[in-house]
Amino acid sequence: MSFSYISHLYCPKCEASYPPHRQAHLCACGSPLLAAYRLDELKASVRRSELAAREPSLWRYHELLPVEQAQNIISLGEGFTPLLPLPRLGRRISIPHLYLKDDGLLPTGSFKARGAAVGVSKAMELGVRELALPTNGNAGAAWALYAARAGIRSTVVMPVDAPAITRSECTIAGARLHLVKGLISDAGKIVAQAISDDDGLYDASTLKEPYRIEGKKTIGFEIVEQFGWKLPDVIVYPTGGGVGLIGIYKALTELLALGWVQGKLPRFVAVQSAGCAPIVEAWKNRQIESTFWPQASTIAFGINVPKALGDFLVLDALYQTEGCAIAIDDRAILEEQRLIAELEGAFICPEGASTLVAARRLRDSGWIQDSDSVVVINTGLGLKYPHVIQTNIPVIKPGDRLNSKIDATSRPPTPWEGIG
Ligand SMILES: *Cc1c(COP(=O)(O)O)cnc(C)c1O
Ligand SMILES: [Zn+2]
Repeated sequence: MSFSYISHLYCPKCEASYPPHRQAHLCACGSPLLAAYRLDELKASVRRSELAAREPSLWRYHELLPVEQAQNIISLGEGFTPLLPLPRLGRRISIPHLYLKDDGLLPTGSFKARGAAVGVSKAMELGVRELALPTNGNAGAAWALYAARAGIRSTVVMPVDAPAITRSECTIAGARLHLVKGLISDAGKIVAQAISDDDGLYDASTLKEPYRIEGKKTIGFEIVEQFGWKLPDVIVYPTGGGVGLIGIYKALTELLALGWVQGKLPRFVAVQSAGCAPIVEAWKNRQIESTFWPQASTIAFGINVPKALGDFLVLDALYQTEGCAIAIDDRAILEEQRLIAELEGAFICPEGASTLVAARRLRDSGWIQDSDSVVVINTGLGLKYPHVIQTNIPVIKPGDRLNSKIDATSRPPTPWEGIG
């Protein structure tokens, strides 16, 4: 019995293979690398029922994760987030079997904690002392905090417009933080230059190390386990770099190969903002890669990625599962963010809210049917984005009386007012 059944890294483009015991980044051909596992051996030695007794964290799937020694695990208690039924919102949008996988509850307040927990743990195992990454905010925050816990130094470069709280997270973790007047793609070029200037610096950029995706895939394992080892019909994901979507697809493929779940893969939906929708555009044209999206802009900052390194893998998952891609405008995102809070008490991030608008529209068009079970993914905590909520609260003096009735017309203005 091994702790991890990782066998090697492979290139999904040219099929080259690499050992998992040395630091690895992109394939010689320029493609990201993916981790492969000895699934036959695992199938013969572990039954899925053994998992039930394990701790409720993403490490319960350690055989399918790349960390080979348990002592290298760097944990802040990540994983096993709730899969919440949304009965009231589901009734409103005619999707009776609607569920929210709420990853806003992870350490550091976003889904990025999964990738950072596994990525930093594996970096520890590989002897990394210092890492660097570009980010739209949440990944930088998560990697800075997990790196701090590991005693690894971190350098983070993010756009000046990224949510301010993510700066605080990097700063308090002692990261070397730089703000760039530009997009994540500009931050990426600066990090790439720093890496080529200093070969002691480990490149932790999205998909430039193969283990972040392994952490992110655990959301797929959890959904299936929380579903009673069944597959939902549709999974809706807010897509920036697309790592989460590629990861979930990879996870479900592994579970099918193990025989731990049966049936047809869910149809994957990639949701983007109308202000930055390269994957949607490529999907519409049946292309296998996307084109750089000029002047990308959206309040859903985590999905403001004009060109993703793994775009071909996202598109492949959409084509393989008969999924689709859909763009949502910021106004509708903010409206939906309010509606789910009002109807279900869930304060989710704009990126997460975009998946509900997508589900609603796909139900209206008939692409989602009444009988479909639909899982939407919330990738972050609404609390991290206080600036997108507009409030208009009456201020009263001590001794004043409250209006006895809540006046429906005194609701605050719609939150998108004032957003360009
Ligand atoms: C990073 C991020 C996303 C996009 O994740 P990918 O897996 O890179 O597509 C979505 N939402 C939030 C809040 C994020 O931080
Ligand atoms: Zn290759």
